[in-house]
Amino acid sequence: MSAQTEPWDRWLDQAFAALQSDQLDRTLLPVRPGEPGHVEVDGHPLVLFSGNDYLGLSGHPRIRRAVADAAERYGMGPRSSSLVCGYTETHEALEMELAAIDQSEAALVTPTGYAANLSALNSLADGDTAVFSDALNHASIVDGCRLARASGAELHIYPHGDVDALERLLGTNRRTRKLIVTDSVFSMDGDVAPLRELAALRDRHGALLMVDEAHGSLVFGDNGGGVAEAQGVSDRVDVHVGTLSKAFGCIGGFVATSHKLRRWILSRGRAYVYSTSLPVPVVAGAREALCIMADEPERRARLWEHVERVSQTLGVGGTSPIFSWILGSEHRALEASRTLFEGGLHVPAIRPPTVPEGTARLRITLSAAHTSEDITLLLDGLASLS
Ligand code: PMP
Repeated sequence: MSAQTEPWDRWLDQAFAALQSDQLDRTLLPVRPGEPGHVEVDGHPLVLFSGNDYLGLSGHPRIRRAVADAAERYGMGPRSSSLVCGYTETHEALEMELAAIDQSEAALVTPTGYAANLSALNSLADGDTAVFSDALNHASIVDGCRLARASGAELHIYPHGDVDALERLLGTNRRTRKLIVTDSVFSMDGDVAPLRELAALRDRHGALLMVDEAHGSLVFGDNGGGVAEAQGVSDRVDVHVGTLSKAFGCIGGFVATSHKLRRWILSRGRAYVYSTSLPVPVVAGAREALCIMADEPERRARLWEHVERVSQTLGVGGTSPIFSWILGSEHRALEASRTLFEGGLHVPAIRPPTVPEGTARLRITLSAAHTSEDITLLLDGLASLS
């Protein structure tokens, strides 16, 4: 240990000791991917109930082929930010397809969903803006809001899903431009935002409505346009954010919006401007995901059958493929996760700060890749916990 690093080592040792005593220390456990919905850990085959590959597309033969073909032809493609030379015809084609599923004029493909939220929020806010954000929005929206505030925007966090509280805040606010931002499916609880009511507030208060469909795209709506489509408000959502890392089975993000806002975000969204664009094979994979979604509607139907079955058996009225089994203490959540692991199920414990203090939980996600035997295994495992 050198004189320079000594204060850092001491600080880290103390911080790690505190994390360990609170059971909040985090470690990485490498998995070996099997077929979608399955992994091996230390040689143990496990059914995966923790991923976000809702349609089981990550290992679909057509996606494998599309990615491999693009890699053969282009390698990774030009490596640079989109604004320099990283934006290819494949990116442009995907953007047009994404705009269509979200019924928007245009779309912008970003390096991740995280970068999509950051870029949209940082570019849209200034000293004349007020941002209204749901209390349980994803960390990428929280961080985007922090950037917005640093640019002079006023920030209001409204209680989770509380449309009346939001209306009161909007009604008394005097900033010229107002932006309401919400997840469509809340990632840790699996509940769905009241987009119809939020769209009505948007109309009444002349606000912009931004919706993060990270867990909604391709899962909800007849065309895969997310909760906005399912609730019939796609045309009143001004900024649709999505990710290519969940139901698309790939990686990347996007913003579907008007031509004008797209033009603004691509010039001013820092996470977009200063990141290298997605590799071409990934973009080709995401395009293929859209084709499969259209060709194999039975995938979405199977996912929703699983949701219905788990929801009925647990008696919880689930509204999305995400189920939250709140256990309270970190210790109980870790124990439950270990028990499920021994029963062949991969369901890690989710602990603060990812979820609020005292709400450590199992977050269970379903996929079209699961068979009905997999779901039986899950339900038996959960029954053994109670
Ligand atoms: N928004 C939500 C609601 C999410 O759950 C996530 C991913 N956990 C993101 C945005 C970020 O997406 P990505 O992983 O593509 O960065």
